Amino acid sequence: PESLYNLLHERCQGREDQVCMEVPGGQSWTYGQVHEHAARLAGLLAQLGVQPGDRVAVQVEKSPEAISLYLACLRAGAVFLPLNTAYMRAELEYFLHDAEPALVVVRPAGEETMRGLAEAQGGIRVETLDAQGGGSLTRALAEQAPEPLAPHPVKRDDLACILYTSGTTGRPKGAMLSHGNLGSNALALESAWGWRDDDVLIHALPIFHVHGLFVAIHCAMLGASKIYFLPKFDADQVIKLIPQATVLMGVPTFYTRLLQQPELTPELCSNIRLFVSGSAPLLEETFEQWHERTGHHILERYGMTETGMNISNPLEGERRPGTVGFPLPGVHARVVDEQGRELPAGEVGSLQVKGPNVFSGYWRLPEKTAEEFTDDGYFITGDMGMVSEDGYFAIVGRAKDLVITGGYNVYPKEVEGFIDALDGVRESAVIGLPHPDFGEQVAAVVVPEQSGDKLDESKVIGQLKGELAGYKVPKAVFFVDELPRNTMGKVQKNVLREQYAS
Ligand code: ATP
Ligand code: MG
Repeated sequence: PESLYNLLHERCQGREDQVCMEVPGGQSWTYGQVHEHAARLAGLLAQLGVQPGDRVAVQVEKSPEAISLYLACLRAGAVFLPLNTAYMRAELEYFLHDAEPALVVVRPAGEETMRGLAEAQGGIRVETLDAQGGGSLTRALAEQAPEPLAPHPVKRDDLACILYTSGTTGRPKGAMLSHGNLGSNALALESAWGWRDDDVLIHALPIFHVHGLFVAIHCAMLGASKIYFLPKFDADQVIKLIPQATVLMGVPTFYTRLLQQPELTPELCSNIRLFVSGSAPLLEETFEQWHERTGHHILERYGMTETGMNISNPLEGERRPGTVGFPLPGVHARVVDEQGRELPAGEVGSLQVKGPNVFSGYWRLPEKTAEEFTDDGYFITGDMGMVSEDGYFAIVGRAKDLVITGGYNVYPKEVEGFIDALDGVRESAVIGLPHPDFGEQVAAVVVPEQSGDKLDESKVIGQLKGELAGYKVPKAVFFVDELPRNTMGKVQKNVLREQYAS
């Protein structure tokens, strides 16, 4: 596809009366209303001086108007730049400085801070949009009554969005995503997941990341399907909606929290076609428990900001726990050693991907971009992976999380698997800590089960000694009530490494 906007718009032609987004207990928008609103909003953007190619930075709560603003930017040929609602002043200053947007749209609560920053940046325009869809942007739309703006003609390589990575391993980097990147990935997912026009999606993800903004919204819009658009994840609310929906997309924590609900039964889920998980590893235990409780095998897939989705378990056929399945149509994936040679099945190496979904580079970081691509055009994902004889890919962890102790490589995920299986352990994170002799030493941060026998360091180490090679056994074990996670449910190992460094 050339224009992502046109692709999404064409798909609802003749189906304008179908509900696009329904906010439970709130408004409901048809596809016709969404595109009509987006067309006028695009007209307003033009009136506010936003030109094709200009960045529009958006830090707002979830609302149908926020999705319309996304579509309006695509339609106007502007570059949509969503920002995590958790970002505070210092972070926002970095993003404004880095991205130089022409317009910033913020929540009313963030207006004052943003105006200060925008002023210091030479007077970037600031508008507001609140959780109910009100604010200065909506007022201007009513007062200035702009004409609908015709879709700006774009080429497939033109920039559609800049999305910052989650910052799990360092400072977030702005990934430049084109209309072609996003459109091709949407079509690949539509076909791989057998998206149907009568699908009904429960949307409880944030809309400032790939998962909630692209994967969820694009799939639904390609089918002109109905979206239950929840302001945030709420287990009770999701349980109530499951019987009326066919697809749920979530991060692993959605599934672990839903498992705590007694109402979760096969009968409750009889209308569901597909449970999708991604953004962080799904524990095999969660996969198994979910199957026992609902009769469904969660479909786990693998993607990232820079590429959208790359690899997915199959719709038909075995969904294998602990793996992310096969490369999507048009995507190539390979596992290579340190010299870049492709590794045979069963060996762990660096995971690389190539395809029409892969971004063109990091915004204003040409050197960083060059480092992350191979000579033959593969993107170095930064994840360690492995492929089975029959072609299933597994993510073993991040290259940056690899622990090298006394010259031996330790993959944290392997050790975590053994610790998690111990009695009295809920979950764990294995990290490397500086060590004078070994370079790094293996350490474990363990969340104990609330009830049951009390665990201590020597018990954990003692039990692992018989099961794992000595160099893999943690030399130190710390106990915590909860692992630090970011909004996408990713464990922040950098936070743990800092905290336990001494
Ligand atoms: P940063 O690049 O700034 O450190 P990040 O990599 O966490 O942050 P994202 O692009 O949001 O930012 O996340 C992509 C990463 O999420 C992948 O590289 C991978 O490590 C992880 N991930 C996504 N899906 C899965 C999955 N199914 N299993 C394991 N890891 C996954
Ligand atoms: Mg990353």
